[in-house]
Amino acid sequence: MANMLHHWINGQKVKAANGNLGQIFNPATGEVASQVPFASTKQVGDAIASAQAALPAWSATPPIQRARVMFRFKALLEENIDEIATLVSSEHGKILDDARGSTTRGLEVVEFACGIPHLLKGEFTEQVGTNVDSYSIRQPVGVCVGITPFNFPAMIPLWMFPLAVACGNTFVLKPSEKDPSCPLRLAELFKEAGGPDGVLNVINGDKLAVDALLTDPRVDAVSFVGSTPIAEYVYATAAANGKRVQALGGAKNHMVVMPDADFDQATDALMGAAYGSAGERCMAVSVAVAVGESALPLIKKLTPRVQSLKIGPYTDPDAEMGPVVSAQALERIKGLVDSGVSQGAELVVDGRETTLQGYEEGFFLGGCLFDKVTPEMDIYREEIFGPVLSVVRVPDYESALQLVCDNPYGNGAAIFTRDGDAARDFTKRSNIGMVGVNVPIPVPVAYHSFGGWKRSMFGSSNTHGMDGVRFYTRIKTVTARWPSGIRQGADFSIPTLK
Ligand code: NAD
Repeated sequence: MANMLHHWINGQKVKAANGNLGQIFNPATGEVASQVPFASTKQVGDAIASAQAALPAWSATPPIQRARVMFRFKALLEENIDEIATLVSSEHGKILDDARGSTTRGLEVVEFACGIPHLLKGEFTEQVGTNVDSYSIRQPVGVCVGITPFNFPAMIPLWMFPLAVACGNTFVLKPSEKDPSCPLRLAELFKEAGGPDGVLNVINGDKLAVDALLTDPRVDAVSFVGSTPIAEYVYATAAANGKRVQALGGAKNHMVVMPDADFDQATDALMGAAYGSAGERCMAVSVAVAVGESALPLIKKLTPRVQSLKIGPYTDPDAEMGPVVSAQALERIKGLVDSGVSQGAELVVDGRETTLQGYEEGFFLGGCLFDKVTPEMDIYREEIFGPVLSVVRVPDYESALQLVCDNPYGNGAAIFTRDGDAARDFTKRSNIGMVGVNVPIPVPVAYHSFGGWKRSMFGSSNTHGMDGVRFYTRIKTVTARWPSGIRQGADFSIPTLK
């Protein structure tokens, strides 16, 4: 019997309201491991009501006390990191070390949120006019919602709710229906840390639940991370319903390899960035842009490495890459690889027929490496979100930069070179949100903020870092004069302070 999951509303487990259930797979075996209830519209409303009821007391709680909850939450995450990583791996399929690493990146946002009393300090100007002072304060936005993707079930929820609640908001999280066990456990740990009931709620479901959240007038702000079409939809719908929105979408990240690069380093970087987590990362490198003479040495070094990738279930400590998340994802990725072949790219390593003994029903796919990919091909134009690396050959640096800039996505990009001029020019002129110099996956640390440009992001505030604090707070500016006994009479012009 598959394990039955629940929602988390007002600090309690809440059971399915009807027979509307989703299946959660063990991607290594292909078996159904759990079932997840999809919330009814009423249950979504209950979660919002619970967040709204908790808001007055929580937003009035001094920031230092909210920070103390965060400190305890951080300690609990550290104590339970192996359990959390196992929950991530068992439903997503990624190897344990990778799950632990991504959980740590989320934990770092909790560490950042522990500094909330300092982060919320406002601005004060004495004497903006004679005996008049002005100050700005940051106040919570209200009920915030987070809608998250399957590929980082710990890290991405942790990008959102710790900072939102530390700022004094209450939260309703709608995690991916593919791997919700980890976010549900995070909510339990938040309660154990002293988070009051109703401050953090988790509601499971799909489009029905998302639409209920986007249109409910009690919701004030929406954070979304997922694919570009849904990000665009969430941005437009939530904005039309009067909410502030940040919606992060998909990606097609390029790594430019200059002829002067250290090819061993570039190869190591490409292996981890293209095939780590089976390519199911929004910051995965899926295009290697080989400049000038760099294509041949790069392909020569990459080929045996891709052929010998160690593929296995997350329980295999030697595995470098696990399965992809679902049978549908496997079919979609294989279909794109087929299209690359039929559209004329050179498939140097073909992982389509890879199977694992004892795991024949698992969603495994070997690493695939394409050479001579061109921008018209589907494998270049679409986000594959699988273990497939495309090498595009360009004659010179300017063509590489042009390729990166012409791509509709703008999440991450990297350049590998020993030439400081080229690196500096690339960081300056590329229209990309996160740029790496000899760093393939330039995911910003918690106290900087994360976000792409172009069709990788809708909205103006990145997640975490100071942008996160700005997103989850509203500024109020007060101009104050204390009566001095001198009357100045009515002023019918716009006030200019003297
Ligand atoms: P997805 O867009 O399918 O789902 C994301 C969330 O939206 C889920 O909670 C899902 O239930 C919900 N959803 C799905 N379809 C919906 C619909 N029609 N209406 C309303 N809600 C809907 O994304 P995914 O497959 O879970 O995740 C992979 C995608 O996320 C990739 O495109 C990846 O690049 C992107 N991603 C982006 C970032 C980033 O920071 N930019 C980070 C991680 C993942």
